Amino acid sequence: MPQLDPWFFEHRYFETYAIASTVSAWVLHPFAYLHNLEDLWLDGGVLQFIQPYNRREPAIYPVIQLAIEDTFDSWHTLTFRPGGDDYDDEPQNMCYPIEAACETFEIDYQPFLECSWLTFPNDYDPRGRFRSWKAEANAYEEYFAELKLMGTLEELSGPLCDEIFFILFLNREALAGFNRLVAMHLDDLYVDDLEEEYRSLFRSNGVLLRKDIPAWAYHAVYYRDRGACVRCGQRVDRDISPRDTPEIDHIVPLSKGGLNDVTNLQILCRSCNRSKSNRDSNAGTRYERWWSKK
Ligand SMILES: [Zn+2]
Repeated sequence: MPQLDPWFFEHRYFETYAIASTVSAWVLHPFAYLHNLEDLWLDGGVLQFIQPYNRREPAIYPVIQLAIEDTFDSWHTLTFRPGGDDYDDEPQNMCYPIEAACETFEIDYQPFLECSWLTFPNDYDPRGRFRSWKAEANAYEEYFAELKLMGTLEELSGPLCDEIFFILFLNREALAGFNRLVAMHLDDLYVDDLEEEYRSLFRSNGVLLRKDIPAWAYHAVYYRDRGACVRCGQRVDRDISPRDTPEIDHIVPLSKGGLNDVTNLQILCRSCNRSKSNRDSNAGTRYERWWSKK
């Protein structure tokens, strides 16, 4: 692959939107997906989210990684190999989603059908189909565990997380849901019990110290929200008048456990920011169309 300008990435994988939608459902309905999310909070896992303004991996990345793993864990979905002929339903043209993803990103991997070490049970049909769902589930489980062990899943996560985050960044509601979810778990910690490297990031129990917003995060949010207040739509264009300086709002207030992270920011005009209550942790729902319908 040719080296790209670091401002660009190639959007290549077709399942990206489905995984982004999984992340959104999880963070907006965490109680319905307790089981999917529980690994995130094990052994003080909530601390992985609190590093301020990580520009390489915004705070929501561990949730995206989990959703990627969850998606590829499924043995019951087959898909076409990239570049394969959709009208050709020969079994060898079908593969599991993780295989399709590896081929898309040109990552070396062990194809399922070439795994001689898999204990294919008697009811495996050499044309590549199983005679029972249970046989397939067992074989796939072994295969997936091996791909994890060999680091294939981790290698895939890099480019996939970037693609998925690109979509999620526009979804302020999901980002707010993520910050509310982390805030809920931060609230369970006692700062005095933490090691110094973490303790120093807190102001008090459940509340992080305010960090300066770096220029890259400021610009990202300004351009995403297109220089307009996400509540009332008023332009806050800095070039017109110094009075209109945009105010960056923490969607979930820091005092309510919100993060110092690009996922927790939005643009408000001065008057909407002043009138926002400290209990309000909802994202602005106003988006500017690409063109007017009138
Ligand atoms: Zn406003």
